[in-house]
Amino acid sequence: MGGVVNSRAMAAKLQCEALNRILQEADSTFREAREIRRSKDLSFYEDSELTRSEHKRIDALVKHLLSGHEGRPCPAGERPIVGASKRAELLRKKAAVA
Ligand SMILES: [Zn+2]
Repeated sequence: MGGVVNSRAMAAKLQCEALNRILQEADSTFREAREIRRSKDLSFYEDSELTRSEHKRIDALVKHLLSGHEGRPCPAGERPIVGASKRAELLRKKAAVA
């Protein structure tokens, strides 16, 4: 009986609702930004606004992964940390080129 409860708790631990929400928001932010950039010529100001909102999403994601659970790392976050830092790295390179 205790075993069932425990394994449920462990399965739940690997899924973090807050993390999923943050990832979804980040994803839609990136997708929107891509669509906007594709659909028209942006002014420098408009583009930097887009970039800023993308960075905000990355910051929120990294913050949650590192300390989102009462100051402790997100238990669901092992792989997304790699993905997030790679993405941030790409953005930084893109920003440096532009
Ligand atoms: Zn979490």
